[in-house]
Amino acid sequence: MIARGTFKVIPSEGKASSAGKRFEAMAQKGMAPTGVDLELPVDIRVDQLAEFCAMAVSIAEVAMPDKDFVGLALKELSLTGERETFDVIANAKGQGGVPYAWYYTAGAYLGHGKGRGASPEEWQTVIERLAETIAHAIENKTAKELNVDRWDDLRVYVQRVLTFGLDTENTASLKETAALELARYSAAKAKGRGATTVCSLCSSAYEIEPQREAGLLFAPQVYTNKQPLHGSKAIRNICTICEIEMMLRQILMNHGGALGSRFEGRRVRYLYFYPTYFFTPETLAQLRILYNRLKRVSFTSLRKALLIEQNGHTKLRLDAGSLQKLQPLLMEPETDGPPQKDKMFRLHFPEKQPVTFYFLGVPPPSRDAKDAEAWVNPAFLALLLPLALDVKVVASESPLPLLTEADELDETVFLDAPHAFVSNLMGKERITLEGLLPQLQALTAAYCIHMDANANFKKADYRWHAIPPLARNVAADSLYTFYYLKKWQRSNDADMAPVDKARLYLQFESIFTALKGGNPMSHARQLTEDYMQFYRHKRRNSNSILRPISIASRAILKADPRLFDREGLTEAVRGELRDFMDRVGKGSADGRFAPGSNWESREVAMRRFAEYFVGTIFHDIMRGDKSALRGKQLNLMKNACEVIYRDAATKEWDDKHPDDEEDSAEE
Ligand SMILES: [Zn+2]
Repeated sequence: MIARGTFKVIPSEGKASSAGKRFEAMAQKGMAPTGVDLELPVDIRVDQLAEFCAMAVSIAEVAMPDKDFVGLALKELSLTGERETFDVIANAKGQGGVPYAWYYTAGAYLGHGKGRGASPEEWQTVIERLAETIAHAIENKTAKELNVDRWDDLRVYVQRVLTFGLDTENTASLKETAALELARYSAAKAKGRGATTVCSLCSSAYEIEPQREAGLLFAPQVYTNKQPLHGSKAIRNICTICEIEMMLRQILMNHGGALGSRFEGRRVRYLYFYPTYFFTPETLAQLRILYNRLKRVSFTSLRKALLIEQNGHTKLRLDAGSLQKLQPLLMEPETDGPPQKDKMFRLHFPEKQPVTFYFLGVPPPSRDAKDAEAWVNPAFLALLLPLALDVKVVASESPLPLLTEADELDETVFLDAPHAFVSNLMGKERITLEGLLPQLQALTAAYCIHMDANANFKKADYRWHAIPPLARNVAADSLYTFYYLKKWQRSNDADMAPVDKARLYLQFESIFTALKGGNPMSHARQLTEDYMQFYRHKRRNSNSILRPISIASRAILKADPRLFDREGLTEAVRGELRDFMDRVGKGSADGRFAPGSNWESREVAMRRFAEYFVGTIFHDIMRGDKSALRGKQLNLMKNACEVIYRDAATKEWDDKHPDDEEDSAEE
């Protein structure tokens, strides 16, 4: 290539030779030893040969510093006798980057050496032969170096990792490697002589070298704590196996167009698929098809698919059957292979190749996603896929598989150190087959609530970074579900939540309760049932619906604790309620009597409500703490009561008017 380049840069015709200038300069500066003839031919051929030699030899010397390429070139030109002169000129001062020695050599070759009278074609042959000789010398060396087999480690590695049947031979070598690993590890902290290096990725016992620039995956330089502190060396050491792995990974990444720090910053989370028992050829084929087509889930379309319109009412379908047939996840029959714009990080295998291990990198949709967002899709897919396919799934931040075989995982799904919002909702990282559906329902419910309360769809922003507090709250107290409904209501300027929405949130709440056990709704339910025996709202807003609770809590706050014991407090609440209901009867207060009630039944109901509110809610649950009546606890309860009330009132109306589809219970 250098030979060809030489004739391109310095063509045989149409360019003046600068050889004459060179020879003059050499004579003037007295570079050559005395007596050396500098009356050499001024010819473009001299330029060509001189520039070629200078370049080719300097490159060759970089590749093999200990070989004498000058001697080699001189020998090829049959000018070995000029070596002394060459060295003197080459070491003279004032070169200024001009290869004077080679100009002298080329001049001598043309003037009185073998090259005298050579045609331009013959000249080109000479240079090409010279190029071949130099190249050959370098190749020889490379071949010799390669004899130190760099694949040895890989062979050993494969033998160690792949076992067929009972394996008895490896025990000895296992001891050996462990001993070597330990020795290296212990000596790695030593300074000076005897210090060893460890692979900064795996600490294995394989051959170790500083990592090469070309093998870097991520940011230009990777910090490692496996180098001695305060050292000058920044490049980490890495073993041959890790190096090969990185190279392979790099090839894969180039495929996906993701590189360097941009890739690392993308917070890809990985899903690893294992068979529940083993893959049959059929199940494997299924997995392969799915693997090739799997996309990120759009949660807007997911919500749409789960909310089913029926008789003018919207219902949430979260049973296993509906989840298995999610429209946005169903494959289209006509497409095969990955989606057009493949955003996933996946391996591509030839169709016929029986690959039995699949993993998938799921990048978050937005460019600079926060950690929570990175887990939104992987967590959902990890829980959903085992419901649809016969697989176990491990979701992890680690780009290397955590498990080698399916039987290392007794459960069906393993979420390896997920974001706190996932672990808050799930309560555990390993999920059994039976636990799968409830967990998936809880996760989906949380996503739906988040989309209502936190997302900003006008700006096409899911705002996933706001999901951690939501997950924490609903996990701690499922009544928080209604707090988020309230949030939605406020941002939509609604006086009341539509009854469908209220029922949807009742369903969400029961999902969280089912997962955690307990019955946090029972108090709110009791309270609401009690006051619905005597009171109904008139205005269509939350305040009107919750009036009896507000009256009761205000009565307690007003009462002096020194004058009222539990009994007295109950009386005070009852008195306030009776007052209020009297005004309702006269039409001077907002509200109505409960349908079908009379004075006596209302009296009984009011007493029961007052006793429950003071006794159970205020004394038992709030421990007589008045500040709780002003704080979050009562508000959460009120939010729950409102939803229960809406549901019950609508049901009542529907029972009385079975043919009427209108939601007009309030009119
Ligand atoms: Zn390694």
